[in-house]
Amino acid sequence: MGKFRIGSYEDLSNERGFQFEFKCDGCGRVFRSDFDRSETRILKKTNESVGKVASFLGNLFGGKVSTVGSAIDSGTGLVSDVSGDRYDDEKKKAFEKAEDWAQESLKRCKKCGRWFCEECYDAEAEMCSPCAEEEKAEEEKRRAEEEAEKEEREREEEQRRREAKKRVCHKCHEFVPEGMRFCGICGAPMIKVCPSCGAENEPRMNFCTECGTRLK
Ligand SMILES: [Zn+2]
Ligand SMILES: [Zn+2]
Ligand SMILES: [Zn+2]
Ligand SMILES: [Zn+2]
Repeated sequence: MGKFRIGSYEDLSNERGFQFEFKCDGCGRVFRSDFDRSETRILKKTNESVGKVASFLGNLFGGKVSTVGSAIDSGTGLVSDVSGDRYDDEKKKAFEKAEDWAQESLKRCKKCGRWFCEECYDAEAEMCSPCAEEEKAEEEKRRAEEEAEKEEREREEEQRRREAKKRVCHKCHEFVPEGMRFCGICGAPMIKVCPSCGAENEPRMNFCTECGTRLK
């Protein structure tokens, strides 16, 4: 069964046996395990305080005991020995069994970690319905962000391409490293300096792109 144990439950066990109640964290639907009769229930003919037994029961797993009074077998005056390790072990095993059973109906949300019935659970997403919806919205947001990033990258790429183009000699079309003023292959000038404003223009320009002065 699942490696996650169900966290919240009601303990309905008493000295006669074990029973647990598991709840859907969404709709509150209750799944009650079959009553699992205690095998190691040992009857002791003592007059040990019933209260002690009852409070011990109550402390086991921190659960709630529904039948506190039944620690005394009616008529016989025998008291069940539920203070032994055997009962303890038995209860632990019974609880695990009950949990395995409950996990057939209750599934754990992988996002919030709580347990949900079929109705409140999105099996495909392996999440409770609210978490699945939240996740879907986040997924959409992520996609939109990725889309925006991609556009930004494309814009930058385009910008780089434009920059690179500028560094190709207009005469021989060889690549000219940035900052070079003349093409090293054919000797063509890589810039036309505007005689009026001093702006550096691409050599194919006939007019200064800064001030409109005719370039030679
Ligand atoms: Zn439910
Ligand atoms: Zn959830
Ligand atoms: Zn050239
Ligand atoms: Zn100019």
